[in-house]
Amino acid sequence: MSFEFNAVPYSERRPFVWVPLAGQRHAVHGRDRAVPLGSPMHTLCGAAHPRSSAGDPEWLWPTCEPCWEEACKITGIHPRQ
Ligand SMILES: [Zn+2]
Repeated sequence: MSFEFNAVPYSERRPFVWVPLAGQRHAVHGRDRAVPLGSPMHTLCGAAHPRSSAGDPEWLWPTCEPCWEEACKITGIHPRQ
């Protein structure tokens, strides 16, 4: 089973989507959410990884901590404080 990122709701307040890439769930810039498979997805932690199809196991990968921190700053939400 794979997910279609085009269907993910997009808002200015949360201009990123969570995507499993390279062993972690990264926050990807919204502009990259619909790039073709194999094209780079730029993450909030500053990396770029090629988009790959994501199944259920990949969605359970651990969250990238730098992406999490950046996402908290962007949204103004700090659940761990
Ligand atoms: Zn990251």
